[in-house]
Amino acid sequence: MTPRPVTLGDLPIRDDLRGRSPYGAPQIDVPVRLNTNENPYPPSPALVADLAGAVGRDAASLNRYPDRDALALRGDLAAYLGHGLAVDQVWAANGSNEVLQQILQAFGGHGRSALGFEPSYSMHPIITTGVSTRWIPGSREEDFGVDPGKAVAAIEEHRPDIVFLTSPNNPTGTALPLGVIEGLVQAAPGMVVVDEAYFEFARTGTPSALSLLPGNPRLIVTRTMSKAFAMAGTRVGYLAADPAVVEALLLVRLPYHLSTLTQMAARVALAHRAELLGTVDRLRAERDDCVAWLRGRGLTVADSDANFVMFGRFADRRAVWEALLARGVLIREVGPPEWLRVSIGTTGEMAAFREAMTDALAASPVITTPGGSGRDDLEGIL
Ligand SMILES: *Cc1c(COP(=O)(O)O)cnc(C)c1O
Repeated sequence: MTPRPVTLGDLPIRDDLRGRSPYGAPQIDVPVRLNTNENPYPPSPALVADLAGAVGRDAASLNRYPDRDALALRGDLAAYLGHGLAVDQVWAANGSNEVLQQILQAFGGHGRSALGFEPSYSMHPIITTGVSTRWIPGSREEDFGVDPGKAVAAIEEHRPDIVFLTSPNNPTGTALPLGVIEGLVQAAPGMVVVDEAYFEFARTGTPSALSLLPGNPRLIVTRTMSKAFAMAGTRVGYLAADPAVVEALLLVRLPYHLSTLTQMAARVALAHRAELLGTVDRLRAERDDCVAWLRGRGLTVADSDANFVMFGRFADRRAVWEALLARGVLIREVGPPEWLRVSIGTTGEMAAFREAMTDALAASPVITTPGGSGRDDLEGIL
């Protein structure tokens, strides 16, 4: 007799995980993929050749564990970040998602809480609850900024152990003024994580929260090589903070978490950073053109300091998303319910997006009245 198929509900899974959905940006194979904020430019033949050579060299020692503390990579990352940072102030892991998870493991946990201002990156609450930490959803304003007075009030009311600030924010693209971040670092009783995954795409002159690190040992700034560095497949994220924060993370990280090959690929990419970051200027120009084009079509578009643009508002965003997909263009249904997000692609990909959008707009009514990003709209999006 064949046994009855087992479902999740049959297993003794943790009560707080019952009924939850996993992170799930669709991975659909279409010609124009503009849905996960990747850099559309693949590595150059020169970089590919350097990577292949380095794999050849490192392969001969794969019987050994990697450098457990990834010191050479962390040194390279510190040099890239500047701000006088030393190797003991920088930490790296498999994507900034793993960095965030380690932060939660060290500073969150059972009986503790984390606060973020939504709409924001959906992985923040998923990672938070994944380590049995309570998630407190704070809110953003109509323009997706964070009101300092209300944010301080929320911090004082809830006394969270961790505060998440995403700047530039995903999915809205909006950056936070440094003064707002500084005020919240002062107000927070625990750790403050500024997720700067998109920092390199910010408009010229936008300051990094890295400049606030001196004298603020409870501040952590996270970055990633997945976006500007065009290395999403490598899985390397990192942070800068006080050396004591790095000591805390050593208590929870798995030994040898960053493979020899990962450390090597990240270092080779950093050595080629002029080339990789060279695509950032092109993407920023393409982004600004995209914002202007969408506004020219009568759409509402959030200011963007990232490599994506959130736009709306649509009575039926699903219909627009599907119309684009039918034309081979995959964007993301994320954020408040009347909005969509498009990642910035190559010039050709953006032309395909505009062409598909022109068709989609002909069939879909656009809402032009103000409002629509209030709390009620955000139910159920994260
Ligand atoms: C893409 C993204 C990350 C990065 O994730 P990785 O794990 O480094 O690939 C982190 N934070 C935000 C807000 C993001 O959008």
